[in-house]
Amino acid sequence: MDLGSVKEAVIEELLDRVIFGAMELVSETNDVMFEKKSFREFSKHISQLHTIFKALQAKRVETARLESTTATLEALHSQLNRACNIIRKYKSGSKLLLMLNSHSVLKKMQELTAEIAGTIALLHLTNIGTSLAIKFETDKIINNLRSVEFSSRTKTDSIASEIEKSMASHEINRDHTMEVLNKIAEACGTSMNASLVQNELALLKQEKEEMEAQKQQSEAFQLSQLITFLYSSDMVPYPPEEELIAQQESLIDSLSCPLYHELMMEPVTIVCGHNFERKAIQEHFRQGMISCPICEQELPSVELTPNLSLLGSIKQWKQRDMDTKFQRAVSGINSNDHGILNTSLDSLQGLMDMPRYREVVSEKGLIPKMVKFLQCSKSNIPAVLKCLYHLSCHCDENKEIIVKEGALSYILKCFYNGETNTDAITILLELSTNENLREKIGNAKYCIPYLVSMLHNDNHDIAQKADKVLINLSSFTHFVIKMAEAGHFKPFVFRFTEGSLETRASMAEALVDIQIGDDKIRCFKHRHFICKLVEMLSSSSPACIGECLKCIKKLLLHSKMVKCFMDDTSTIPHLITLLSSAREKHWKMETVEVLRSLIANFQTSDIQKYPDLQDLQSQKNVNLFMRLATTAEPQLKVKSLQLLIVLTEKLEIAQNLVRSNKDEIDNLFASLNAYQPPEERKQVIKLIYNISKQHPAGVPLPAAKAKEYAIYALVAILNSSPDNTERSTAAGIISQLPANEILLRSEVLKTIQEVICTIDNKHSGIEAPINEDESLLENALAALVRYTQHTNPDDQTQVCEFELYPSLVRILYSGSSLAKEYAAIALAHLSQSTIISTDEATITTKQSNNLSMHKRIRFFPKVFQRFSSSIPPKNTCSIHGSSCSSKHIFCLVKADAVKPLVHTLSDTGSGAAEAALTALSTMLIDSRTVSRAVGAIVDNEGVTAIVEVLERGTLSAKTKALNLFHKILEHTEIRNTPFQRAERILIYLLTEDTLKKKAALVLRQMKILPDQSSFF
Ligand SMILES: [Zn+2]
Ligand SMILES: [Zn+2]
Repeated sequence: MDLGSVKEAVIEELLDRVIFGAMELVSETNDVMFEKKSFREFSKHISQLHTIFKALQAKRVETARLESTTATLEALHSQLNRACNIIRKYKSGSKLLLMLNSHSVLKKMQELTAEIAGTIALLHLTNIGTSLAIKFETDKIINNLRSVEFSSRTKTDSIASEIEKSMASHEINRDHTMEVLNKIAEACGTSMNASLVQNELALLKQEKEEMEAQKQQSEAFQLSQLITFLYSSDMVPYPPEEELIAQQESLIDSLSCPLYHELMMEPVTIVCGHNFERKAIQEHFRQGMISCPICEQELPSVELTPNLSLLGSIKQWKQRDMDTKFQRAVSGINSNDHGILNTSLDSLQGLMDMPRYREVVSEKGLIPKMVKFLQCSKSNIPAVLKCLYHLSCHCDENKEIIVKEGALSYILKCFYNGETNTDAITILLELSTNENLREKIGNAKYCIPYLVSMLHNDNHDIAQKADKVLINLSSFTHFVIKMAEAGHFKPFVFRFTEGSLETRASMAEALVDIQIGDDKIRCFKHRHFICKLVEMLSSSSPACIGECLKCIKKLLLHSKMVKCFMDDTSTIPHLITLLSSAREKHWKMETVEVLRSLIANFQTSDIQKYPDLQDLQSQKNVNLFMRLATTAEPQLKVKSLQLLIVLTEKLEIAQNLVRSNKDEIDNLFASLNAYQPPEERKQVIKLIYNISKQHPAGVPLPAAKAKEYAIYALVAILNSSPDNTERSTAAGIISQLPANEILLRSEVLKTIQEVICTIDNKHSGIEAPINEDESLLENALAALVRYTQHTNPDDQTQVCEFELYPSLVRILYSGSSLAKEYAAIALAHLSQSTIISTDEATITTKQSNNLSMHKRIRFFPKVFQRFSSSIPPKNTCSIHGSSCSSKHIFCLVKADAVKPLVHTLSDTGSGAAEAALTALSTMLIDSRTVSRAVGAIVDNEGVTAIVEVLERGTLSAKTKALNLFHKILEHTEIRNTPFQRAERILIYLLTEDTLKKKAALVLRQMKILPDQSSFF
């Protein structure tokens, strides 16, 4: 055999095999189940190869090159074999798997067909004449093969995707599985039955084992999913629990790292093909080992390839595991067993943060059921609340259902019981993010007060969440008002500053009735709030202005707010404009009140800091107030008077401006009569007092006839007003009457005396008078002092005649410091008048016939006796002897005043001591009686008291005391304890600039300092 024939024999052999292969392939394609059409087409074209190869065999054609023909045939043979194997495999395995993998199989077939066509094209045939037909045939086959389409039809596709969906779904159910299986059976041209499923199952299990053996975990995982899918059809009995668990375990095992024994997070494949958790195998290699921990194969490299398909499987498995838990929990919720129910709720709360589970729960209508669980004491409430919280986060629709089903009432019950349940407030906060629900939440009974009370919860989280709920609710004005009513003002203030004029008007109206504690007022110390409120004063809406005024008035009840209003420079201008232009009577009244409280709350020194306040004392404004105070209707009159009273009290300029308005002043005096409303008269008299006191010109009396009338009115008030304050003020004004005023002197004096005696009488001269009497007494005494002044000898005489001094003496014991001071001054004046009277012999009796008032003064000999027991009988006097008996002579000794005056010296802190010193000094003026007078003072322990003043008195009191002490020393020898004490104090006084000269003189007198001391 030559080489050519050997080669021909080889070709012969190959041709046989190719022909056989083609025939086999054609027969295999006959019973393909899915995509039959493509396979048939393919099979038809392959079978046509037969003709060509038969012609070759018959040598009707020859190949051009033997070598290449051999190679071509070999390739064709292998390709046909491969196609055959693919089809066989496609037919033999599980239908389910087939369905799933049809895409990749068909793709392979498509590629292979193209390959086959390409290979056939390589055949180079000779003997052109005979082979033309063959050539034409060959080209046709090639073209046909190239045009064969291996692609899955829509039906197959849809079944495959349904299987995939079912496997991935968290909800495998029997009906759905059956539906899919029936579709598959239909596509296969059979009907679904148990044995078919059984068969499928067996095939899948077998393949799964193979995959596991090959360590192809992700493929094995897919198969186990398909197995689960088949079981869910209910057409085959479920495997026993142990088998399931074993299956599960082997699955977890295959997805776990062989080193860490935990589910892999980042699976990687090493060179030998085994899989590990990346960290685990890296650690293994780091320890210097380069062999596989499983197969112990020595590894050529430590390269790690991420195993993405395994990672996908692990993720899928986790998902499926969660799905199972979820399904179990959902079905457990329907259980009547509380144990199961609560466990289910517990596991459900852990899954509720996943949107898809929340969707299922909502779809299944479980929300109303969960809300009902809240009412049941046996429920796992925290879990229910957490579930509901997550569900409410999911969508607004869920929130609405939760509220509709009555969850709010449970949450509020929770608050009501004082349970500081974080879950309850958390869910409420979430619900309140829905604008549609806010109305309902805020209107729920007590909801807002509870929330406000929670703001002070020790748990910061609860407090913060309650605050956020309130903020959400604060888009409604009426809720903000409710919050304010509950004592939470921040949202109120905020809403107010943001709101429209109408909103603000309604809020201001509400605020007027809300109680604002002192601790809460700082919430309103907010610049914008004040600005917006003040701005309302210039509004064109009457309601707005009215509410605004009331509101400002209310806020000003808190002195802390005053500064805030004054910091807004438009406050006063707006108020003044309103006052001068408003027609509404009550607005004017409230404006005046507001102005009054603004000024009343400032110290005079602070007023200087506010130009607006200063502006109130402009001539124009003062005139405006004065006009209102004299001409307005009674109530406004009173308010305006009160404003002027405060103004004149604080501001000297205002005092002068009021005084300068003569016409209005006359009007004021005119309204002092008894026919005026008492409240108004009371304010008028206060104002007159304010503008008179401490003013050098005294009371700005009206002229001529009106003057007499005014004084008469004052006397009448002092004499008979039922209101002691008013009487006291009247006495105060009388004490400020101009010094040269002589009208009605006798009447005035009588009234003063009566007042003094009545009060003295009322309190028996021992106990201190009660408050309201005290001020009346003080002012009456001040008035008396004015009438006993040196310049009014007639008055002094009259006082002597009225024998008022017993009362004065008693006041020295029991009165206030101020009363004592006035009493002592009055006694000093009287005592001085005696000296003047006796020396100049000007005692007159011209008014002694008018004693009607005198008779009314009650006299209490008993009390008087108490203070006179140690003194010689009344008619004789230790100083003046029998010449003292004249009833026109006033003598301190005869009046028993020395001892009480000495007693008054102990009141060193006030002006009383100084006044008493003045009074005692009057005894030493007359040189004829001075030594006897000194004796009287010494006998009454006056020296000790004087020394005490020297030690503790005011500077001017010390000066007086020093003079008196000096005079006493000139007339008596003192050698006892007070003397030694005086010595010490006098030496100390040498250090006082203004006193040292006098003190040195006294010390020389005492023979302590030598005559030639440096002090002289
Ligand atoms: Zn290995
Ligand atoms: Zn006397």
